[in-house]
Amino acid sequence: MIPLLIYGIVVIIFSSATFRRSMQQQVYAELKNVESLVDTLLDTAYPGDYTLEGDGALSLYKGGVNITADYSLIDGVKENTGMDVTLFYQDTRILTTIKSWEGERLIGTRAPEQVLTDVLAGGESRFYDKVIIRGTTYFAYYAPLYNSDGQITGILFVGKPAAEVNSQVNRALSPMVIVGVLALALVCLFSMYYAGTFLKALYGLRTFISRVATGNLSEELDPAVLKREDELSELGRSALSMQRSLRSLVERDSLTELYNRRSGGHHLTHSVEKARSGNTPFTLVIGDIDFFKKVNDTYGHQCGDMVLQNVARILRRHMKGKGYAIRWGGEEFLLVYENSRLEEARKSLEALQEEIRASCVQSEGNQIYITMTFGMACDSSRELKDLLREADDRLYYGKNNGRNQIVSAETPPSDGQ
Ligand code: GH3
Ligand code: MG
Ligand code: MG
Repeated sequence: MIPLLIYGIVVIIFSSATFRRSMQQQVYAELKNVESLVDTLLDTAYPGDYTLEGDGALSLYKGGVNITADYSLIDGVKENTGMDVTLFYQDTRILTTIKSWEGERLIGTRAPEQVLTDVLAGGESRFYDKVIIRGTTYFAYYAPLYNSDGQITGILFVGKPAAEVNSQVNRALSPMVIVGVLALALVCLFSMYYAGTFLKALYGLRTFISRVATGNLSEELDPAVLKREDELSELGRSALSMQRSLRSLVERDSLTELYNRRSGGHHLTHSVEKARSGNTPFTLVIGDIDFFKKVNDTYGHQCGDMVLQNVARILRRHMKGKGYAIRWGGEEFLLVYENSRLEEARKSLEALQEEIRASCVQSEGNQIYITMTFGMACDSSRELKDLLREADDRLYYGKNNGRNQIVSAETPPSDGQ
């Protein structure tokens, strides 16, 4: 931000100075033109040489005409060009448009020493940007005046008050400077805004990553980070996918990709609390694969894994929109029906049981069919551990009463089993 500001200010100052210089060059060119115009006018009006006559009150003649008191020509030039004109005979002002505060022409005064050295003695035409004449600073052009014998007889001055030139330059310059400053302010505001949103997103991303790093896997990333169209949003997406992968590693069972017992337990506690506070129905089911040990023993552990994966796939699909499934133990699964009464859940469970029965896992030429036994419990007002115990008791009852069945509240275990 600060380098940008410095750069902008330097550019404005540099371009203003360049513009001021070029305007001054233009003024110099005008001065030079007017000087040559006056020279030509004098030569045309009074062809011939300059001569000085008289002792006390000197009279300047040109081509035999006394021009000492004839101001019409130089006054006319001043009226048309706004520039002051002075004709020096040697070092002395003879004709001038410059007047004192009292309105008298500055006749008889001397040209500045530097001008006498450069122009009168040196014979060179020169520009000066700080010629002070009676307290007024002038931009001036001085050129030597020659007689026909090639001798320098005097100096022709054409000048403009520096204050006038400066105010003319300032008038032309100020809109440019204003536009420059406004543009700079806009650029600065835009940069500040951009830097602000960038830093905010960066801060959000840093907070997100550091919270994920300390184990908060449900931390949410500021959506503004993802809406950006730059590397930060890419970083944000990568951080989110890292969080998802970590969460999956921590929360999911690697074989079946269902919730593992630990994270499933958290979800379950949350679901029970939600059902209790919202007074909504809630049904819990524990399902266990029948004679699963036999599957392992007969077809091998790997084939057992395939069966578990197949069951998990069916459970996941079945629970979509109804709740979720948890791998509670080796071949034991917990089904959580949110917002479902027992009868409703049971109906849905019967369909699931049928689907599992009908599903076949093919392994090394073998077709493996399995069945499952389920124990159900319902009532969100009860403690979770009581619900779990009840569902487990019913599963146990089912296992002891022929397996491949659903044991719900309507079929309580008989004689204390
Ligand atoms: P029941 O009908 O009474 O449930 O009989 P079961 O054989 O299914 O029950 P049991 O508890 O005797 O055996 C469960 C078996 O599940 C034992 C264990 O090796 C197997 N098992 C547990 N986890 C895994 C696993 O991840 N992969 C495989 N392949 N087998 C597993
Ligand atoms: Mg079993
Ligand atoms: Mg078991």
